[in-house]
Amino acid sequence: MKKIKIAHLYPERMSIYGDHGNTLALEQRMNWRSIKNEVVRVEVGEKIPNDIDLIFIGGGQDKGQLVVANDLLKKASQIRDFVESGGPLLSVCGGYQLLGEYFISNDYGQIQGIGLFNIISKATNTRMIGNIVVQSEKFGQLVGFENHSGATEFIGRANPLGVVKKGYGNNPNDKLEGVIYKNAIGTYLHGSFLPKNPKVADWLLRQAIKHSGQTLKLKELNDELENSARKFASKRP
Ligand code: GLN
Repeated sequence: MKKIKIAHLYPERMSIYGDHGNTLALEQRMNWRSIKNEVVRVEVGEKIPNDIDLIFIGGGQDKGQLVVANDLLKKASQIRDFVESGGPLLSVCGGYQLLGEYFISNDYGQIQGIGLFNIISKATNTRMIGNIVVQSEKFGQLVGFENHSGATEFIGRANPLGVVKKGYGNNPNDKLEGVIYKNAIGTYLHGSFLPKNPKVADWLLRQAIKHSGQTLKLKELNDELENSARKFASKRP
């Protein structure tokens, strides 16, 4: 079986609040299934390999977003083509914001995004912080931790990842969280997100295997620990 390759974009600057745990979870869930895999770290000025099967970008402070934004614009068409061809992508918070049209930071003004998601984000004066619980049609209950000043709204056609049951999500008003477009997910859920939400992790892995041109039925894993962690986290105030 061909190795499954994950591109982790800007891990130095864009992996706050445990977001690195997302690639660790994907790696581990492939290791448990003896699926060969590799995580390629792609920093500013480095190329995204052409043979990747999944893209991950985590969250970052406004400053970090400013530092990576120009480089991300240079990678925009490769990322958009990858997603349009069904490639799976996970983006969290600051990374999610930069995959929209733009993010207006309080300190740095408008930071251009790559326009993959039909969203815009604007910094507010209230930081949206705390444990968050989301109900997703596709994945069921999702839990995480959020910490962002940016409020995100849809512009044009866009499907939310889910509905907020506790916390803020995209913004303090519409009770929507994240976005899902083809096999690309944007979410405000740090935590990190995937270890406690294994259904999303395996869904991303299935798309990555499919995108790699291989057929493999993922062996079911015993997710008792992951599911009890999510249940416990969902009850946190
Ligand atoms: N800097 C962005 C904001 O404050 C994103 C924060 C994050 O990635 N946690 O909204």
